[in-house]
Amino acid sequence: MTEMTISKTITLANGVEMPRIGYGVFRMKEHDVCVQGVTEALKAGYRAIDTAAIYQNEEAVGEAIKASGIAREELFITTKVWNADQGYDNTLKAFEQSLQKLGLDYVDLYLTHWPKPQLVDTYKAIERLYEEKLIRVPGVSNHHEHHLQQIFAEANILPMVNQIECHPSLSQDALRAFCAEHNIAVTAWAPLGTGIVFTHPVIKQLAEKYSKTPAQIVLRWHLEIGNIVIPKSITPERIVENLAIFDFTLQADEVAAISALNTFHRTGSDPDNFNF
Ligand code: NAD
Repeated sequence: MTEMTISKTITLANGVEMPRIGYGVFRMKEHDVCVQGVTEALKAGYRAIDTAAIYQNEEAVGEAIKASGIAREELFITTKVWNADQGYDNTLKAFEQSLQKLGLDYVDLYLTHWPKPQLVDTYKAIERLYEEKLIRVPGVSNHHEHHLQQIFAEANILPMVNQIECHPSLSQDALRAFCAEHNIAVTAWAPLGTGIVFTHPVIKQLAEKYSKTPAQIVLRWHLEIGNIVIPKSITPERIVENLAIFDFTLQADEVAAISALNTFHRTGSDPDNFNF
């Protein structure tokens, strides 16, 4: 998909508009670093923040949101239930704690962080939170097709987002196609692939051609293939740089050349072999 312009939001299955780019806060455990990072991101123009209970920074995210003075309805806040808290009742309790830490009265998107044997019960609790309007969008993370099939068999409301590892070394073509078929938007975590593709000639040449950085080329590729991205940086210049991806377009053959870099290389765990 190559279009001259790409909208800054994506319309999810229930009509909610989700920003195409958010600010990820993994490995920002230190309170002040996280407050500073989120503050910089909001100042730069990000309106979506991606946190998780396990990141231990929901309080810092909440503090930065409050201090920003930005109207709540302009923000899109994602958090996730950790593995140890899965199951129906535990998920409801974990959600309540996340809400308190964030200092919010609702969350925009709530995700099962990783698929565990209780993934259906966990998702049922997320469904209930959606029905109670405590979340605007129900979703999952790191779910393969067979995990989603388990949910499809039991759920009344299907997940609307699947947050998965995706970058040029792991383009996730099959899972993205499956999600698209079921109207599930894909958010790419580790969208930059921890930088391993920045030095590849394909990326370097495109960066030169468009006077963009390799990171911007990679992030734009994600937009072109339909993904939502949540890059992480604590460097103010990079926070701004990562957002400047809406003023150029990659050609279809250029998108294909980046997609062809896929080597099925994961920077993180395979959800089928994730044991904590
Ligand atoms: P990322 O692709 O965002 O890469 C982050 C690394 O790239 C950082 O080390 C940063 O220093 C560097 N970087 C950032 N901008 C750059 C730029 N413009 N130029 C050069 N280098 C740059 O990877 P990530 O942090 O693993 O993932 C992003 C977010 O995804 C996380 O913060 C988190 O919110 C989410 N996440 C979710 C899961 C999950 O299981 N659902 C797992 C990991 C991460």
